[in-house]
Amino acid sequence: MIDVPLNTGIRLAIGAFKSSPIASLRNIANEPPPDIRRTQNNILYASRTLKNENNPAIKYIDNTIKEAEDLQINIKQIVPREPQTIPPWLMQINTNIEITEYKKNNTNPNIYKNLFQGIIQKYPDRKHIYTDASKTTDSVGIAIVAENTITTYKLPPECSIYTAEALAIYNATLHIIQNKDTTPNNYLVISDSLSSITGIQNITHPSDISKLIQEKTYEASGMGMDICYMWAPGHCGIQGNEKADLEASKAASSPDTPLLNIYTYEDKKKQIKQVLDQKWLIQWINQHTKLNQIKNNIQTWKNPGLNRKEETILNRLRIGHTFITHRHLMEKNDPPICEMCGVDLTVKHIITECRKYDDMRKKYNISQQIGEALGPDTQSIRNIILYIKEIQLYNLI
Ligand SMILES: [Zn+2]
Repeated sequence: MIDVPLNTGIRLAIGAFKSSPIASLRNIANEPPPDIRRTQNNILYASRTLKNENNPAIKYIDNTIKEAEDLQINIKQIVPREPQTIPPWLMQINTNIEITEYKKNNTNPNIYKNLFQGIIQKYPDRKHIYTDASKTTDSVGIAIVAENTITTYKLPPECSIYTAEALAIYNATLHIIQNKDTTPNNYLVISDSLSSITGIQNITHPSDISKLIQEKTYEASGMGMDICYMWAPGHCGIQGNEKADLEASKAASSPDTPLLNIYTYEDKKKQIKQVLDQKWLIQWINQHTKLNQIKNNIQTWKNPGLNRKEETILNRLRIGHTFITHRHLMEKNDPPICEMCGVDLTVKHIITECRKYDDMRKKYNISQQIGEALGPDTQSIRNIILYIKEIQLYNLI
C-alpha cells in the first residue's frame, strides 16, 4: 500500500511522465524495487543484531537468517561487538608507526630496511610476530609468522583486505595469550597494514576487530605481557615481512588451508548489496519496457551538467513515455500518428526514424540505434537535447 506514494515520489523526483512503467522509474532513480529493499534492510538488521549474542531481538530473526541463507549469504559468524566492559582510561595500547614519517615515494627500500632495524633495537628482548594478508578475486589468506611457528588461515572470500589484515593481527594476539605458559614474554607484532595499526590506536571509536584486539591486549597485559603493534612497509626486504607475505598468498591459493569462518558487518553489508543488486538486475533485464532497449544495467547514469528541464526531457525520452506520445492516455483519445510517415508516433520514431527530421538527425549526428542515441555518452546527450530543441519538441516532451 505504501508503494503508491513511494512510486509517485520517485516519478516526481526524476520528472517522468505519468504513464511511465514503475520498473523504469526505479531504474532511472537507482531505487531498488520495494521487496528487494526490504529484504536488504531486514538482512542488515539481522546482521547487526547477531553482533551481540545477548541482544533479546535474536529470537525474532530466524526467518531473516533463513532468507539470507537462501540467497547464499551467511550472517551467523559475524565478528561480535559486545558492550564496552573495560574503562577506556585503563586501556593502554602501544603502537609504533615511526616509519610513516618517511614518505613512500621518496624513500629507498634499503633505507626503510635500515630504519626498521634501528627501531627494533629500541625494543630489545621482545619476540617478533609478523602478520600479513593476501586477497585475490575469489580467495583470502592470512599468515601469522612467529619465531618457531607459522599459522595460516583462509577467510571467506567476502572478507575485505582490511578485515584480513586486522584478523591476522588479532590472531597474533591470540597466539601470544595461548602461549603464555611456555613463554611469558614481551612482543612486537609487525604488520604492513597501516590502517590496521592506526585502527588499534583508536580507543574511542574502534572498529569491531580493533575492539577485539584491544580487549585481548588488555587481557595480555593483565598476565604481565606487553605487546607493541608496529607498522613496517611491505616489500622492502624486511625478512619477517617477506615471509608473512609469501605465507599469506600461499594460504590464499592452497586448497588445504584451514578456513577461519568469520567476517565483519562491513563485509556483509557489501555482500548483501551485491547479491540483492544482482537479483534486481535479473528482474530488470527480464522486463520489456522501452527503457530496456536503452539500458541493460541498474547503474546510475551520470547527468553531464543538464538543467532540470533538460534532465526531465532526457529521462522521459529514455523511458519512452512523453507528453507528445502518451498524452492521449490522459485525454482518453486514440494514439497519435506521425503525419509525415503515417505510423505510430513513438520516441523511437522521433529520434531514429522520422523522415521529417532526417536533416537534423544528420546535423546532430544522432545514431540510428535508439540505445546509442539515448545512451550515457556525454556528447550524444548534448546532441539529443540540441536536436529536440531544433525540431521544436523541447516543450512537448
Ligand atoms: Zn515520421
